[in-house]
This record gives sequence, C-alpha cells and structure tokens, in this order.
Amino acid sequence: MLTDDQIPRPSAQKIPLLELMHQSGFSPEEFAKLEKAKSASDELTERENAAMSLVESTMPTKIDRRTQAIQMLFDEPYTQAKRNIMRPISEFNTLLNQRTLNEVNTLENKTRNIRFLFIAIGLLLIFLFWQMLRSINLDNRMRCENEHFSRTLINGGTALIWTTNLDSLCDYINEPWLRFTGRTFEQELGHSWAEGVHPDDIDRCMQTYLTAFEQRQPFSMINRMRHAEGDYRWIQDEGNPRYDDQGQFLGYIGYCHDITERIQTEKELTGYRFHLEKLVDEKTSELQAAKEAAEAANRAKSDFLSNISHEIRTPMNAIIGFTYFLRSELKDPKQVDYLDKISHAAKHLLSIINDVLSLSKIEAKRLELELMPFSINDTLNKVRSLITEQLDSKKLELVYDIDSRLIDSILIGDPLCITQILINYLSNAVKFTEQGHITLRGFVEEEQEDLVTLKIEVQDTGIGISEEQQATLFQPFMQAEASTTRQYGGTGLGLTINRHLAHLMGGDTGVVSSPGQGSTFWFTACLKRGKELQLAVAPNPNIPEAQINRGARILLVEDNEINQEIACMLLEAKQMSVDIAHHGGEAVSMVKANPYDLILMDIQMPVMDGLEATRLIRQLDYGQSIPIIAMTANAFEDDKQRCIEAGMNSFLAKPIEPDVLYRELAHWIPLYIDA
Ligand code: MN
Repeated sequence: MLTDDQIPRPSAQKIPLLELMHQSGFSPEEFAKLEKAKSASDELTERENAAMSLVESTMPTKIDRRTQAIQMLFDEPYTQAKRNIMRPISEFNTLLNQRTLNEVNTLENKTRNIRFLFIAIGLLLIFLFWQMLRSINLDNRMRCENEHFSRTLINGGTALIWTTNLDSLCDYINEPWLRFTGRTFEQELGHSWAEGVHPDDIDRCMQTYLTAFEQRQPFSMINRMRHAEGDYRWIQDEGNPRYDDQGQFLGYIGYCHDITERIQTEKELTGYRFHLEKLVDEKTSELQAAKEAAEAANRAKSDFLSNISHEIRTPMNAIIGFTYFLRSELKDPKQVDYLDKISHAAKHLLSIINDVLSLSKIEAKRLELELMPFSINDTLNKVRSLITEQLDSKKLELVYDIDSRLIDSILIGDPLCITQILINYLSNAVKFTEQGHITLRGFVEEEQEDLVTLKIEVQDTGIGISEEQQATLFQPFMQAEASTTRQYGGTGLGLTINRHLAHLMGGDTGVVSSPGQGSTFWFTACLKRGKELQLAVAPNPNIPEAQINRGARILLVEDNEINQEIACMLLEAKQMSVDIAHHGGEAVSMVKANPYDLILMDIQMPVMDGLEATRLIRQLDYGQSIPIIAMTANAFEDDKQRCIEAGMNSFLAKPIEPDVLYRELAHWIPLYIDA
C-alpha cells in the first residue's frame, strides 16, 4: 500500500492543456481541426442525449420510442455526425503527423549538418596538428642549419672570437682561439683568458677592456698573447658591446687577429726608414757642409775682391791725386803727354777694378737697385755725353734713334744701372768698330697699364760675332776669342754684368750678329711708370769753382798718410784750413773743441771707424748741423746707404776726383762764412 507521502504529486505548476499545446507549438490550423471535431462531438452528444430522452420517457409508447431511439442512434445523420467527429480528428492527426515528420526531418537535417561540422572540425584539427608537426620539424631543421652556419661562421676563419657576460666574465671562446692558445674551453672562461696575455701588456689590456665595458664603448687594442707553440704573438683585439632584440645589454663580443707579421714588417720598415733618414741626414749635412763651404768660398772671394779693390784704390788715389797736381806744375809738353798717359792708364785701371768689384757684389747678391723716378731721355743723353770722347777718338758717328713715346717718359727705376749697361755696350761697340757708325735705339716693347717694357739696342758696324761665340758671350770671364783679349783688351766682365743688371730690372740681354756684319746688343727692362721727377739731391755740377768758400775750416778724418797728404793739398789749394784727425775717436774730441764748417770722413780706420764717429758727432749739440761727407774706397750703393744711415750728408768714392770734391764742398759750405 502506498502511504500518503508516497503518492506521486505534480511537482510543476498546473498548466491548462490548451496553454501547453500553445507552448508546444501546435499550429492554428490544428486548433481549428480540433475545434471542428469538438463541435461535431457536441452535435453527436446532443443527438445521443435526445435518443436517451426518448428511451427514458413514459411508457406506452415505450417500444416505439425505443425503436425510434435505436433508430436515432443508427440512422444516417448519426453516422454522419460520428463521421463529422472523426474527419477533423483524422485531419488533425494527419497535420500532426505531417508536422512531426517535418520536425523529425528538420532535426535529421540538423543532425546531419552537425555531423558534417564535426567531421570538418576534426579534419581541420588533424590538418593543423600535421602543420604544427611539420613546422616544428622545419624549425628544428632550420635551427640545426643556423647552428651549423653560425659554427662555420665562428670557427671557419682565423679570427679568435670571444664573448663576455653581464659580469664582464668570458663565457664563450671559439675554436680558432683554443687552437691558438692550445688551452681548453674551461681554461679560458671567466678572467682566465688573461693568463695568456704578455705580463707587460696585461695591465693595459684589462684597463682598456674594463673601461670600455663600464662605458659600453667599442674598443681596440694591440697586445701580445702566448701561442700554443710557446712564443708570444701580436694580436689586435676589437671588442663591441652586444644587445638583444629589445636593446638589452648582454655583454661584449670581440674579434682578435694575429698581426705579428704586420708588426714585424712595420718594425723592419721603421728600421729601413730610420736607416734611410740617417743616410739622408748624413747626405744632407754633407751637402749642407759643401754648400756652406761653397758659400764661404764665394764670400771669401767676394771679400778678397773687395779688399783688393780697397787696397788698390788707396795707391790709385795717390797716382790720380799727384798726377793732378803735377800736371798744373809741368810746362814741358812731352812731360805733360806722359802725365796724360799715366792719368789715362790710371782711369782704365780704375774701370777694371770697378768691373771686378761690380761682379763680385752681383754674385754675392749684394747689389740692390735704387728705385726713383727718372727721365729715360735724360739718361740716354747723359750716356751719349759720356761716350762722346771715345767716339771722337775713333771718328765714329752715333746715330740716336729714340721712340717718341720715350722722350717725355718718366719711369721708376735705377738710371745708374741703365747708364752702366749702355756704357758697357757702347764701349764694346766702339772697341770693335773701326769704321762706320753706332746706333743707339730705344723703344717700348710692351705696355701694360702702369708697366713699360723698355728695349734698348746698340748696333755697330764692327767685326761681328759667330754663333758659337755668341753662346758663351754673356758668361763670366768669357770673351769672344782668347786672342781678342790681346788685340782689344778688357776684362770680359761687361756683358756678364749687363745680363745681371737686366735681370735685376726684370729684363734680359741678347745679341744679334754674324761675322763681318756688325752686331746688335740689346737689353730689356720692365719698369713702372712714374708721375713726376724728384729734385736731384746730387750737387749741381754747374756751380763755378769761384763759389767755393775759401776761408772754410775743414776737419779731415783719415788714417792713411798718402790720402791725408793728397786731401790736404786739394783743400789747401782752395785756401781752406785743414785739421787732421787720425781716427774717429780723435775726430769726436776735436769736434767738441773746435767749430768746423765741414768734415771729410774716412770709413775704415783704427780705434774708431767713420760710421761710429759720425753717430757720436751727431749726438753733440754743435755736431748735429755740420756737413759730414764720407770719403771711402768702399764705393758701392750699400756702403753709401750705411753712411747715410749713420748720419752723413754725402758720399765720395776714392780715388778722389778733384773736380767732384770741389763740387761737393761748394754745395755743402755756405758762402756767407767768407763774408
Ligand atoms: Mn782708411
């Protein structure tokens, strides 16, 4: 027996059947069929009720009624009513079946689709798995290949490769390294690699490495490392910081190369270079010594010529001076003729000395040109007047052919230099021409803004010169022919001096000639245009002798007795009073004690020279205004310059030419003293 609590009770909420049917998805068509069945059923029930009522009604007609009731329950309309109930139900069933069938079909389709889906997912998973396996395999293979590649890269060459970790300790060494040191991997790890470094290099190496490590900087160092064979080899070690993908510092990597051969080659080269340098030094100092010796020899030659010239000038002074006095005293024409010849010879000798001295100065590069405005026409006229005597003596005519553009030209240069060149050319022309004429031709060869290239030619109708002779003509100590020396005389220095002087003026010299056809010697000079002439500082050569101050008091400073005597005679001849000082010191004290109108000052003297004496005199109150004239055998421009710089007013070259001396005196001593 079931107890009360064992009786099953509905656990869910009570829901009406129609509601449930709605929820279960019955279609309105199905409801309609059910509704139709229900109304048919109601109709049937009504008929049955009617039949039952007939049966239950009061008798006599009971049997009839029963029959009527039975008839009612079996007649056609009842059957029709029953059918009317069954048809909609049957239709409902059909609909329901149809629906169920549809649902089942739908579900079957769904199930089939899901199965397909599962199969597809399964296949996909299998495929993915296979791919995964394949890629793992590929990865492994690539990793293997990479490792192989890296190993080949790392171990295949000669580079010794190392890496260190974050603690600066060595954590990897490649095979070439191990082969190099002959040690094991473990022996090199940490800081143990340092055991192989040469003891003299280790401190420097560690410092270089650790400093770079701290600053994460690349480094390069050269050091010695012990080789497996026991000797030390030179290696160059280049280290760099290394980083991972994210830029995180990992440690260092380094590459070392054995550079022992290079170092040895460099050492050998250094040795050779040192040897070569030594050789070059030796040769250079030998050459230097040779050059200095040559220069010293040249200076010695120059000094020698200068001294000789000075020494010759002093006796020449005597010859020329005494000849001058003697000539005024002699009356016998024959004796006068002898004296003229002596005078002529003396002057010739002097010109030779001047040539030799010129050349020695030029060769010692002590000749400097003066730059001053001058008139080229005036200069040529002066040359013409200087050469007149020589021309007259051989009855030769001078043809003067000057470019009109030059006549009024003012140029800047050294007129004395041009004069000297032309005198040399013209003297030669006169010397080598027996008849005919000499042409002096001047023209402008080239003109550029303020520069004028001047060309001056001296053409003669003389013996001419062959081409071979022309080749050596302008070289020192060369003459056209050795025999000409005997026939025509001369030092052969004139043309050499001319070429040097022309070069100093930015020009050149040359000759056009053929034997028997005469010669044309030329020179060029490149000169600047000048604007106006400076007033000449030289004394006016036209002052008459009468204007000389005859009462003047002169101090003659001169150490040489003959020179003293000549100067005294020349001065006393003009009634001047002369005091003599034998050296500069004496002169200074005499100037302090006496008023002089003029001082004639020798340069080379014992005790004190003329330059020093002049400087001291110029410091005296009274000494500042006395005219001081140098009288010296050192007759060159630089000598003259030194005299002017020391404070002298003018300059006379020895031997003293009386006329020149008198002109100087007339210029410097004021006439009113006489009054
Ligand atoms: Mn002297």
